[in-house]
Amino acid sequence: MRYRVLGCSGGEAPGYHLSSFLLDDTVLIDAGSVSAVLEIPAQLKIESVLLTHSHLDHVRGLCHLADNVFGRRDRPISVYSIEPVLEALKTSLLNNVLWPDFTEIPNSHMPILDFRAISEGTATPLGHFRVTPIRLSHTVVSLGYLLEGDFGTLLHLGDTGPTEAVWHMVKGMPNLRAVMIGTSFPNRLQHLADLSGHLTPQGLKGELAKGDVKANVYVYHMKPPYVSEIAEELKQLVPECHILEEGKEYSFPPIP
Ligand SMILES: [Zn+2]
Ligand SMILES: [Zn+2]
Repeated sequence: MRYRVLGCSGGEAPGYHLSSFLLDDTVLIDAGSVSAVLEIPAQLKIESVLLTHSHLDHVRGLCHLADNVFGRRDRPISVYSIEPVLEALKTSLLNNVLWPDFTEIPNSHMPILDFRAISEGTATPLGHFRVTPIRLSHTVVSLGYLLEGDFGTLLHLGDTGPTEAVWHMVKGMPNLRAVMIGTSFPNRLQHLADLSGHLTPQGLKGELAKGDVKANVYVYHMKPPYVSEIAEELKQLVPECHILEEGKEYSFPPIP
């Protein structure tokens, strides 16, 4: 499985793109920077979008993606998340005020975006993957996704502060290949991390201990002003972790 990082920053600034990850060219996790980074032909290949939560830095590109593919695809793009996340998008973003409701355009039978609610804790087939949403702890409903395929299992977490359920789920899990998780603020700004439902390096260390995580850990969603400070603290506190790189494609080959 190819996991391409379109953007993985916790904020937007020149050289820093918002969260969006492309799996095998067709499945997108979050849509922050998809339309800013991907060429149009590649945008047309996207079949499914998995949304971790409703925050703008994770969904904004969905508006422009819908606009770009309008009239150029013969079937909808399926957009998956749990009901409250999809509902938030319908109410607050694709509400015909901030942006047209592309779940009804050109009509509700064959729209540009087909919203499909999936259930927490239940594996749903999606192309050649199986995806299971797990509730995290953020200022709004936020999810992690367990992605299963011939590569084993990958855990991609949306925004979260300290949380529990997901760690119970992955503790001792065989074939867990990688965990993608946000670390947004340096340790001295723990109060901001707590207020905004994010982690610091010391918080990350505590979370990984809860899950007794042995898989590769990839950190993302760093706030641009603090990138070097966070990276330095990670080197001290969680030296085994990697920092996810924008523009890079990570390969997870099949387990023999
Ligand atoms: Zn968020
Ligand atoms: Zn975010």
